[in-house]
Amino acid sequence: MSKPVRSDAVVLFGASGDLARKKILPALYDMFRRGRLDVPVVGVARSGWDLAAFKSHAHDAIRQDSDYEAGLATGFLELLRYVDGDYRDRATFENLYQALGAARHPLHYLAVPPSLFALVVESLDATGCIKGARVVVEKPFGRDLESAVELNRALKAVLAEEAIFRIDHFLGKEPVQNLLYFRFANAFLEPIWNRNFVKSVQITMAEDFGVAGRGSFYEEVGAIRDVIQNHLLQVVALLAMECPIGSDATYLRDEKVKIFNAIRPLSPSQLVRGQFAGYRDERGVSPTSQVETFAALHLHIDNWRWQGVPFLVRAGKSLPVTATEVVVNLHYPPQVLFKDDRPAFPNYFRFRLGPTVLIGLGTRAKKAGEDMVGEQVELNVLHQHGDEMAAYERLIGDAMRGDPTLFSREDSAEVQWRIIEPVLGDRTPVHTYAPGSWGPVEADAIARPYGGWHNPLAEDGANDPD
Ligand code: NDP
Repeated sequence: MSKPVRSDAVVLFGASGDLARKKILPALYDMFRRGRLDVPVVGVARSGWDLAAFKSHAHDAIRQDSDYEAGLATGFLELLRYVDGDYRDRATFENLYQALGAARHPLHYLAVPPSLFALVVESLDATGCIKGARVVVEKPFGRDLESAVELNRALKAVLAEEAIFRIDHFLGKEPVQNLLYFRFANAFLEPIWNRNFVKSVQITMAEDFGVAGRGSFYEEVGAIRDVIQNHLLQVVALLAMECPIGSDATYLRDEKVKIFNAIRPLSPSQLVRGQFAGYRDERGVSPTSQVETFAALHLHIDNWRWQGVPFLVRAGKSLPVTATEVVVNLHYPPQVLFKDDRPAFPNYFRFRLGPTVLIGLGTRAKKAGEDMVGEQVELNVLHQHGDEMAAYERLIGDAMRGDPTLFSREDSAEVQWRIIEPVLGDRTPVHTYAPGSWGPVEADAIARPYGGWHNPLAEDGANDPD
């Protein structure tokens, strides 16, 4: 097979938006700084800017970068081009065609509201800008199964699947990739990574802040659509899937789809939704909002490896800490030999996915003294620091090289919606919780039969053992 051709321009739709400023422009600057970007970057927005104004905006965005260097920034800004115009106006795309000049394989990054994805792609097609191009589509990929199917249809009408890059920046994070690596680069895990040894799996994504001024955006999504349907289901897949038969992207994506197909669609009894007190007072939020800022759920995986093993997933805002953590709890030893207290989780693997990256192994060890009494000890490795920025940099680089490994395939995007579709909307009540707590008390019932929730600690060290 011939090597995919490298993109020879980057087009940033939504160049004046929040994501472009916070993540994409800094990621492009980082790529330039590391010698990985030397092609034109065309910003497209409807702000009435000219090129100088776009450069000034981009400069402000990259000045926040910890690796900002004035000389390098000047070099980066020289790559920028700008097209001003509304996406509803065909002339915007005709101007883009001119601005692309000799570029034959642009990467179009759609950092625009999801309602515009299909329109932008159709206009790119109508004006000749899509020929030879790749397209990165931001999340959320649809609002439900039906809209995801419709969006796939609109994309596939003008692009081959190999040219569509459905981004989930979570997959570009080092610690998330490490889950895949750790599982399949170590032989010792495989014999115990199944229902015979694993008692339960927990995934918590906690944020100690609220909606940070983005209330109107959050009203349209809520925790389930925002992080569970995409980021956390991807983490479940990395933990639960079979080993791909090779390193090719197709094999990895096949295994993910297989495990998503094995996850039973959720029923309301498997879910508890919460909303932090004060959410309804946020700007852009309805005073009667039923949107969840917290969700806890119990996933069943119906296959031989995982039958009967609960996968408990939790995500929320205004919780006590900001941390994302996976805990794989093992069964108790088969016989009670020693008379000390049985902890809820005697043996476990803990993967801290951020902000600090850590792998821990929870074990029992004897306390010094006359009695055969033990204590909980965690062996852990502090791996490296997570770098949110690096995720976008990595993924843009992959898309430019045509490597789809860390992007969702058409079937995956749809089957992930199928899992959560039955509980979307107001089909379950939303319980109020106090900001700074671990969500509504009702959520405790989800984990109670399996020893309760493992609450990540604020600091990066070992977990509170018992
Ligand atoms: P913003 O609302 O901040 O930016 C949207 C951009 O699209 C702006 O540049 C806006 O221009 C432009 N735009 C909107 N309508 C038109 C139009 N008709 N013609 C021309 N330009 C238009 O959104 P975000 O940057 O926050 O989000 C962009 C995408 O990224 C969304 O799909 C979002 O879900 C996704 N995303 C965002 C994250 C974030 O942290 N912000 C995180 C993960 C995903 P103007 O400013 O002139 O209105």
